Amino acid sequence: MKRAITLLCLGCVVCLAALTVRKAPADAIADRAHKLHFSSIVLDTHDDTTQRFFSKSFDLGKRNPDGHIDIPRMREGGMNAIFFSIWIDGRIMGPPAVQKALDQIDAVHENVIKYSNDLVFCRTAEEVRRAHSQGKIAALMGVEGGHMIGNDIRVLRMFGDLGVRYMTLSHFYNDEWADSSTDKPAHNGLTDFGKQIVTEMNRQGIMVDISHVSDKTFYDALETSKAPLIASHSSCRALCNHVRDMSDDMIKALAAKGGVIQINYEKSFIDQAYKDASDKLSGGVVAQFDQFKKECGDDDECFAKKVADEGKRATAEGKLPHVSWERIIDHIDHAVKLVGADHVGLGSDFDGASMPDGMEDCTHLPQITEALMRKGYSDDDIRKILGGNLLRVMEQNERVSREMQTAPASAAR
Ligand SMILES: [Zn+2]
Repeated sequence: MKRAITLLCLGCVVCLAALTVRKAPADAIADRAHKLHFSSIVLDTHDDTTQRFFSKSFDLGKRNPDGHIDIPRMREGGMNAIFFSIWIDGRIMGPPAVQKALDQIDAVHENVIKYSNDLVFCRTAEEVRRAHSQGKIAALMGVEGGHMIGNDIRVLRMFGDLGVRYMTLSHFYNDEWADSSTDKPAHNGLTDFGKQIVTEMNRQGIMVDISHVSDKTFYDALETSKAPLIASHSSCRALCNHVRDMSDDMIKALAAKGGVIQINYEKSFIDQAYKDASDKLSGGVVAQFDQFKKECGDDDECFAKKVADEGKRATAEGKLPHVSWERIIDHIDHAVKLVGADHVGLGSDFDGASMPDGMEDCTHLPQITEALMRKGYSDDDIRKILGGNLLRVMEQNERVSREMQTAPASAAR
């Protein structure tokens, strides 16, 4: 009996030793990934949290029970640079669009002041790096849709002065001068005025964002822009055939001019089965947003809640398939294999999209670093993907802006 117990114990030790041997490398990677993640600039180029600033139940400084972003959860997920998106419905045009955009720009600035212990407003890549070295979260702004300039180039300049650092040329609908990927072509890409806007964005140091635009608008912008472009929140069409995503040819052309694709986590942009089922169920993302708009009217809080909850509900009811957060890694990896690690980054669409299982909010971001490390990505490449690439593109845009502002002959004013 004693011998049996001894053998059993010996067996336990052998078992434990085997487990320890198997587990050791995994823990070592997890530990190394954790250190890398929490020492890096983790920058997200697209978060719709701004619209939540107008809700009485939301507080950026507290841990909220819903949504994807707030300061405590950003701290927990190691997210230390964020582009707050300025967004209004693409069918609002002219002066009301400008006014609503200004409301949101003002709300971003007011929240940064309110939470200045944690947040610092940044206009340059250098300021983002300084914020990081001081342990602060860098707050930046992007305008999601050219309709918000009210067809007036002076408003674009004003947005630049207020700290806007990128503008998406269109949203779901065509604006006055750019075709959207989810609308019927009206301008054959960019109009002449649209090209003038792109040049003025270069001059102001406002990055040209080609997420949402039609393929023709993308190629027109690429040809016109003197600085590298960004796709602030787009994924890969080769893995999920959605017009909102970029084809391999587009990603290659973007990268060839130094640009960066920031991968979007929205389920219908990253998973073909989900996209197909969603198209069948609700007619796709644009039709679904239209339906939400009808149901909610001007109640932005109701709209945001529907965007966040409807996908979850349909999945829980078995009407839509589950999507794993690992699809995000597949999209990053596809783009990296296509154009290299210098041209890929993160543009979650948190608070504006339906998140895959396992990426319920920004506290899950360290998983991305760990997954890339397990795939064999170097620390340098991971740092670039987490934020370094976007900062490089931002610096290139700043350089082009300085050159254009000191060369009177090329001035667009
Ligand atoms: Zn968007």
